[in-house]
This record gives sequence, structure tokens and C-alpha cells, in this order.
Amino acid sequence: MKKEITDIDLILDILAREVASYAVPVVDLIAVQSNDPYQVLVATILSARTKDETTAAAAARLFKKAPDLESLAALAEEEIARLIYPVGFYRSKAGYLARLPAAVSSMGGVIPDDVDRLLQLPGVGRKTANLVVSVAFRKPAICVDTHVHRIMNIWGYVQTKTPLETEMALRQKLPQKHWLHVNSVLVAFGQGTCRPVAPHCDRCVLLPYCPQIGVTPRRVPASRGAAPATAQAVKKLLSWNVNGLRAVEKKGFIGLVKELDPDILAIQETKLQEEQVSAELKNIEGYHSFWHCAARPGYSGVAVYSRVAPLNVRQGMGEPEFDAEGRLLTLEFADFFLVNCYFPNAGEGLKRLPFKLSFNRALLAFVQQLAAQKSVVLCGDYNVAHREIDLKNPQSNVQNAGFTPEERAWMDAFLEAGFVDTFRMFHQEGGHYTWWTYRVNARARDIGWRIDYFCVDKKSVARVRDAAILKDVMGSDHCPVELDFV
Ligand code: SF4
Repeated sequence: MKKEITDIDLILDILAREVASYAVPVVDLIAVQSNDPYQVLVATILSARTKDETTAAAAARLFKKAPDLESLAALAEEEIARLIYPVGFYRSKAGYLARLPAAVSSMGGVIPDDVDRLLQLPGVGRKTANLVVSVAFRKPAICVDTHVHRIMNIWGYVQTKTPLETEMALRQKLPQKHWLHVNSVLVAFGQGTCRPVAPHCDRCVLLPYCPQIGVTPRRVPASRGAAPATAQAVKKLLSWNVNGLRAVEKKGFIGLVKELDPDILAIQETKLQEEQVSAELKNIEGYHSFWHCAARPGYSGVAVYSRVAPLNVRQGMGEPEFDAEGRLLTLEFADFFLVNCYFPNAGEGLKRLPFKLSFNRALLAFVQQLAAQKSVVLCGDYNVAHREIDLKNPQSNVQNAGFTPEERAWMDAFLEAGFVDTFRMFHQEGGHYTWWTYRVNARARDIGWRIDYFCVDKKSVARVRDAAILKDVMGSDHCPVELDFV
């Protein structure tokens, strides 16, 4: 039984070679490209609670207008917010950046190179300060972010409760030659393999050494075997209820599509008529787009963007009562059907529950008939949280739309009929949500529901490589969900 990792030189040496082929953490990349403490500091502030690709794109937009502190001082806070959107907490970060030039000026006009003075700047916490000192100034500092703290404890190299305790323990224990690099190595490793939820232990180079303290590795479906040899064959599929396409267009939808870079993007609640779709939205570079709009203006509606042109496209399922609501698009490809569905909401007072249940029954028959021909991927806003772990407050919502026994029973029947909720193939625990009401500050408090899904027919489970919830993507009251499918 492995107790703890003791030979840290060996482990970090193995990892340095392992992550050489991974994407470089964005802050290190910017340091290499610019060699500029200002840009490293700003990129580090932007990167908190934000995916690397989003940080890189936002930093590039900002640095084009504000390559240094002087030009940053000339930008209004609103302009900064617009440039850095959609990084997490972009409004707060815009405020920090707007105040940064004056704060640096009060310290003599240059970015400080020590942790204590960096901590006095707006938006700079301990992690940011350590990262700037080590990455921008190449001075000994250990930047302990969530990945370093988590992985060092998984290895048993430290036994600590907070990142600050980890930093202090590492200062005592970790040889100084590792201080500058440990963050970038473990961030890349933590994003790529030793992930916060369900780490990929099955393909980890450290498996022979790691005691896996407190870890629940991802479950590899028996029929799935090892990761694919041809990573290029994996398609990235996204589904997102945008809650009004024209509204998200104004918030940078087209740029976001480019950043997220899906092979297929299925959206729901477009809330427009096809003639109202702007040419820019219809013709996003590199994609074909397909639409099914409701007869009633400003209501429902779905669309799909696909890099590959499908063989066939079908609107609805041949039932006029349901098809008039613009809820269903089916794209047929050579080896699978992509079905994008915006399921009805049971409505206030559950007035539309009977309609919803008959829609759901018809939909199940429709996808079963498709599954008899080839693989089916059914994605969208199902408008139901299946189990108690799929919403924050199950007890108080038992009689509410989206969590009634009748809607949940349909989901049971759907799964029993041979469809698989791909997110639950990899994540068994609660606390993962895809929708938060705009009321009561629910998103910030993470009072959410998981009602957006990618499901596949049972015989296609072996083609599923991963499933995820992109909760940091803002712009709607839902966030996108992802399926990696070969
Ligand atoms: S992925 Fe698993 S085996 Fe690898 S370091 Fe993390 S917990 Fe250990």
C-alpha cells in the first residue's frame, strides 16, 4: 500500500516530461511571450476562476488596447469590462484593473517584485502575488493555487487544509529548485489528468507511485477501454440554452463560439424567427447552421451549428401540435443522429404538464426509432432535474415544474428504455448544476438545477469519451454542457 510520495524530485521530473505535451498554463505562456510584469500581473488577475482559453482571448483583446499601465489608465472601467468579458467575475476584475494604474503609481510607478507589496494592489491575493513574483520576476516564490494544494495533499506530501497552509508547508519541505516551476507543472497536470472531479487515474503516469489520498477516480465504462489512440477523432459537442439568441449575441456569442471551438453546437430557446437571424449569426465562419423556430414570435426555437455538413436535417417529429413550437432539430450524419431538443416546461401551476408529458412520450418513440438505425445523441434542455442530487433544494421543489414525480418518472422511463445520461458516467456526486434562476442571486450562491443533458443510446456508450458542465461560461441563466464523442 502506497502511503505518501517521498521522492519529490523523481515525481516532479516525471511530471515535467509528462506535461511537456500539454497546453501551457496561460500565465506562463504570456510570461514567455511578453517578459513583462504588467502583462503577467493582469493575465493572472484575469485567470482566476476562468478557463485558460477564455483568459488568453480576453488578455489579447485587452493588451491590444492597453499594452502598458499608461494606456490602461486611459480606459474607462466599462470599456475594460467589455474587453475582458466573459472571464469569471469580469465586472469585479474590470474594477480592479481600472484602479491598478493609480495603485502602482502610488508605489513608485513600477510593478513591485515582492509578495507583500503586490498584496496591496487591487484584486491581488496571495496566489496572484506569488505567481507574479515567480513567473514575471523569476524570484523564489511558491504559487499555491487549488491544483497545487489539492495534488500535494493527494500525494500525502503535505497534510494541510488551506492553500496558505500548503504554501507554508512547501516552503519548509520542497527543495527550492522546484519553486518556480511547481505551479505551472501541477496546473497543467491538474487540468489535464489529475482533475478536481474524477481524476483520470486510469491513464496517469504517476499511478504506480500515488497513494490517491481522498480520491474517487473517474469510472471508465467497461466497454470503453483505453483512451483513443486518435485524439483527433474525438468530436466536441456542446449544448446550451441561450435564453434569447439576440441577447447573447450582444454579449459576444460569436466570439464565444470561436473560443469554445465546438464541432457541433446545439442551442435552445433562440426566441426568434428565422428571418430575424442576423447574417453574422447565420454564417459563423467554419460552421453550417440550421434552425427550427416556433410559429409564435419570440418563443422557444432551436438551432444547430455544425462544422461538418449533415446528410439530412429534419425539423420537428411530424406531429403538428408539437412541431409548431420549434423544439426539435435532427441532423443525420454518416454514423449518428444529433437530436437537439428544447423540452416543454410544465409551467406555472403545472398547467402545461399534460402537454409536456405527451411531448416527452412522442419524443421517446421518435428517438427509439432513430436508435434502431444508428447511434443517437439527444441533447438539450430537458427541463427536468432527474434525481435529488440534480438540484440544490430538492425538498422544497417536489411540486414545482421540473421536479414533479411525473416528470422524473418520464426520465426514469427514458433511461430504462436504453438511453444513458453521459454526465453520470463520469460524475456520481451532487452539486453539479446547469441552470440557476435569475432571482435571489442564485448563480453566485450556486443554488442550481441540472436540467441540461447529453444522452446517448446504450449501444453508443463506447463512443463517449468525456462529459462536462461548463459552468464558467456566462451569458444565459443556463451554462453549456459538453460531450466528447468519437
Ligand atoms: S490522477 Fe490519480 S494517480 Fe494520478 S496523481 Fe492524480 S490521484 Fe494520483
